[in-house]
Amino acid sequence: MYTFGLVGYGSIGGWHTKQLLSLPQEFRLAGVYDINPERMKAAEQENGLHSYRSMQELLDDPQIRTVILAVPNNFHKPLSIQAMRAGKNVICEKPVMLNAAELEEVIAVAKETGRQFSVHQNRRWDKDFLIMKKVLEDGTIGKPFYIESRVQGSKGIPGDWRCVKEAGGGMLLDWGVHLIDQLMYLVDSPVTQVYAHLLSVKFPGVDDNFKLLMRFENGLSALVEVDTYTFINLPRWHVSGDAGTLQIDDFSCEGRIIRARTEEMRWEQGIVYTAAGPTRTMAPRPKETIEQLPLPPMQCDSRDYYRNFRDADEGKAPLAVTPSQALRVMRVIDAVFASAEKGTAVSLHI
Ligand code: NAD
Repeated sequence: MYTFGLVGYGSIGGWHTKQLLSLPQEFRLAGVYDINPERMKAAEQENGLHSYRSMQELLDDPQIRTVILAVPNNFHKPLSIQAMRAGKNVICEKPVMLNAAELEEVIAVAKETGRQFSVHQNRRWDKDFLIMKKVLEDGTIGKPFYIESRVQGSKGIPGDWRCVKEAGGGMLLDWGVHLIDQLMYLVDSPVTQVYAHLLSVKFPGVDDNFKLLMRFENGLSALVEVDTYTFINLPRWHVSGDAGTLQIDDFSCEGRIIRARTEEMRWEQGIVYTAAGPTRTMAPRPKETIEQLPLPPMQCDSRDYYRNFRDADEGKAPLAVTPSQALRVMRVIDAVFASAEKGTAVSLHI
């Protein structure tokens, strides 16, 4: 049985536990180590998990093949290196590291030790993302030229390490890394420019709201937006293609596709009087020239992430989330921080 050990039993540690315990035929979770004894007590009470007295004791368990690191961001590097040097594979939580230089060091250790290393970019298995990807791959809205990807909340940032810069706090390293990873996985073209504005609306010292424009070599651009203090949300996805538009409202995947019918648009002769005043360009399109489609159905299972990691480790499949993909994302994130600091666009080719 493929066996994991878990380090960190906080919010995502609890999620990993639930996911793995729901697949008892496939996986075993040998136990947990958390620096806070209260959290280990909770792991035992909530899920009957065995507790290790130290990280070293967990690493010394020969049954554990892979360690999942579900600890705050500033611990990802030292614990990844420690685990791989002890002979374990590592699934590290996102953001994989605080910057690309840290990740390069960790990748060097993975190569030296021959261990499999991956980052838990679980949002590649989200239903909204998979629907959007399918619509684009099917060509339903033609060739995409602009993608808006955003998540918005109104409660601010949880008042923990996420508010502390040195711990890897802020939304760019939190939700931003998911949204950037999704786009870079989706778009088969290098990122050539980023321009970002990182704001601290309620939490000084870290970004609790950011706007990022990304340009890809193939001509596509994307707006990535994360906001923790908005009370009227914009859509999760809004994608413009040269034959139509896709909108996915939220994570429950309400939304629609509206696209042009094949006939050419016939323009009205002369000015048109609309709610916007006299305008032909912004007048509503005649109904018979467009069609509305529902979003395609989609099955998804975020536990496929662990299955893929196991299959790759057993030589049965290529690894889905690779260190080199993670390095591309971290290099873009480094450029995003640089752009925000300088207040200018940053050119790159990644
Ligand atoms: P959390 O604060 O809820 O839990 C972190 C846990 O780690 C705590 O129980 C803490 O006691 C423990 N810990 C801290 N330092 C430790 C150490 N050195 N050794 C052992 N245990 C230690 O945080 P969280 O929300 O669970 O986030 C943890 C990580 O998971 C972060 O990197 C975060 O970005 C990531 N995360 C990922 C997702 C996702 O969807 N993939 C969602 C939430 C969080």
